[in-house]
Amino acid sequence: MVQVTVDQVFEAGVVGAGGAGFPTYVKLSGRADTVLINAAECEPLLHKDKEILRHFDDDVLAGLRIAMELVGASRGVIGIKGKYADVIEQLRPKLSPDMEIVPLPDAYPSGDEFILVYEALGRVIPPGGIPLHVGAVVINVETARNVAMASRQPVVEKFLTIAGAVQEPVTVRVPIGVTLAECVELAGGPTVSNPQYMVGGVMMGYLEQNHHALVDKTTGGVIVLPEDHVVIRRRQQDWKQISRIGRAACDQCSFCTELCPRWLLGHPIEPHRAMRSLGFNLVGEANVQGTVFCCECNLCSLYSCPEDLDPKNVCVQNKRRILAEKRRWENPPFLPERAERLLKNRRAPTKRLMKKLGLTLFPNVGYLVERTVTPKMVGIKLKQHVGVPCEPVVRVGDKVVRGQVVGMPPETDGKRALGAPVHASIDGVVTRIQDGVVWIERQAS
Ligand code: SF4
Ligand code: SF4
Repeated sequence: MVQVTVDQVFEAGVVGAGGAGFPTYVKLSGRADTVLINAAECEPLLHKDKEILRHFDDDVLAGLRIAMELVGASRGVIGIKGKYADVIEQLRPKLSPDMEIVPLPDAYPSGDEFILVYEALGRVIPPGGIPLHVGAVVINVETARNVAMASRQPVVEKFLTIAGAVQEPVTVRVPIGVTLAECVELAGGPTVSNPQYMVGGVMMGYLEQNHHALVDKTTGGVIVLPEDHVVIRRRQQDWKQISRIGRAACDQCSFCTELCPRWLLGHPIEPHRAMRSLGFNLVGEANVQGTVFCCECNLCSLYSCPEDLDPKNVCVQNKRRILAEKRRWENPPFLPERAERLLKNRRAPTKRLMKKLGLTLFPNVGYLVERTVTPKMVGIKLKQHVGVPCEPVVRVGDKVVRGQVVGMPPETDGKRALGAPVHASIDGVVTRIQDGVVWIERQAS
């Protein structure tokens, strides 16, 4: 078995590759009875986790084994949608007796850590908690592969799916620091004029206007959409519109609450009450205070609300204000039995979600292809993770090689700030360090 230490996981710059960017060495420094691989990949049209499992199953299983050893877990679980029967069949013969696969329903948001832990392990994480509170460490498929590689190669490449309005939806492996536009070209380019990029998915991702934005360790995919697509139009609404329409049109039907995955787990979040707050200054009231437990899955806004209102954004606004005011809710009410009673009958089927979002127009595939970007230049962001930005450890004019550290989290009094080092993804010369990015230009050999 490959031996990897927590220090090596740090030095390799491994962070949550599913989008969260939490430094993995911190997770693997804890103690847990179970390590759960998050292969749920519930964002419509994204396929990279399944493709990594299909092509690099030995690496992912090695990463799972290493994670289990590091946290002292006696059980390793892979949570993957049951519909991917071919991948499950491929994995099963390779599992050790202390590993298992739990097939998940094809619903959204099955990749949310709280939902995943419940669906795969039957444990409910309390409001404001983390998986460790119920004895679990959750890591994404790509993160597990990066853990397995940590003693040999730092994180210098990224898998991502390019889908939507493109010639050929694909999953590709590219050097960190290339542009989104370069990746979209690997899918044959957009099929629409004035294409819009949803980065990370249509539900929890963001609309990126700058098509030359840089791929980092957390970029999971780009969904290209026409500018008049409903998802894009919804994203372009500003807060004034959202609050004005919400105040006028919300009839308090409470569907947003009844289908909210966190409410279904028994957390005290009730988006319909947050909607009510639009007409009043209710921040700090218990029913608005619960918005701090919103995971921003967007289900309420893009699926549940019959009026197409935006309770998610109302929750986010309230949440930000509450967090800025440092209001804490000690001992919030928690009804975990609600999960057992209601969750299984109230899942949002992916098919229905995709239909509602007008995504069934696009092929729902993204096979991994070998083509990649060979960039003349890459931009390595100094912050690609939860925590403090790295400080550059190279200077303009320095020659660097692929895998060399170019930024390290700062240390104060010998104590390392939360973060992860970042590395050059190509051989070249540092030409600029500006606005939190180390630019490296490839040198002609
Ligand atoms: S589902 Fe829509 S209309 Fe119903 S309470 Fe929620 S925001 Fe209001
Ligand atoms: S975005 Fe909406 S559905 Fe999702 S957790 Fe927040 S309130 Fe609930």
